[in-house]
Amino acid sequence: MPTCWLNGTFCDESTASVSIFDRGLLFGDGVYEVATVVRGRLLDADLHLARLERSLAAIRCDNPLTIAQWLETMQALVNANALDEGLVYLQVTRGVAERDFAFPTSATPTHFAFARPKRLLQDPAAAGVSVHVVPDERWARCDIKSTAMLAQVLAKQSARSAGAFEAMMHEDGVVTEGGSSNLWIVQGGTLITRPLSHDILAGITRDVVLELAAGAGIPVLERTFTVHEARTADECLMTSASSFVLPVVTIDGAPVGDGAPGTVARTLREAYIERALRLTAP
Ligand code: PMP
Repeated sequence: MPTCWLNGTFCDESTASVSIFDRGLLFGDGVYEVATVVRGRLLDADLHLARLERSLAAIRCDNPLTIAQWLETMQALVNANALDEGLVYLQVTRGVAERDFAFPTSATPTHFAFARPKRLLQDPAAAGVSVHVVPDERWARCDIKSTAMLAQVLAKQSARSAGAFEAMMHEDGVVTEGGSSNLWIVQGGTLITRPLSHDILAGITRDVVLELAAGAGIPVLERTFTVHEARTADECLMTSASSFVLPVVTIDGAPVGDGAPGTVARTLREAYIERALRLTAP
């Protein structure tokens, strides 16, 4: 049985449970992170934990663990599950209290983490994925990695029902981001992605890819782009910790460019994997 971490102890996933009065359950009053594991080691966990601190500060919730304690716990979880390649999910909620919207006067944050295997280096999706365009129906603080994700659940279900891999969310025809990824296009060799604001999540992979693009001499423009521009771009890409860099080869069934993974997507995915292998080298 896989081992998880719940409120300070490791336990079987089958026995781990939280109260029905947990504010994460009642209000979505919590935040989370997903970090990657390659060759049994955490990748960029420090960056994910820094974002966790930012999310917690934004919702005015204490971090129950120090960064060092999180790092130790996450690696112990990886080891306990003998995880070679995959993901560690962690969540912090404001804790258990009588149901009242305003903050409880005293509550101990609930925190837990679990690990899951996933093929990352040899991901079959690297052959190219499809997206389905949907309106972005989320709130005004998409920079907070909140567990309240009903709009993304609906967006990704629409994508699934349409036979697509990911949702391309837009506001009035302007792309915000994917259901659980940042989106990019390539126009005439220039890589374009939406600038950071309250409208999107500051993807850890997005940051790394910006650095890799600079290193590879790929010109980058941080600006908004439209769904129409994505449909007529030379390439479209998505990035996330759990997918690295994936070429988007169709939008609502129509090919992007020639419908095959493009040079920029392939270059950046290779650079991302090379960096991941370097950082997780034994
Ligand atoms: N945007 C959204 C809405 C997401 O859920 C994710 C995945 N966490 C991302 C972007 C990508 O972020 P990251 O690269 O840190 O995984």
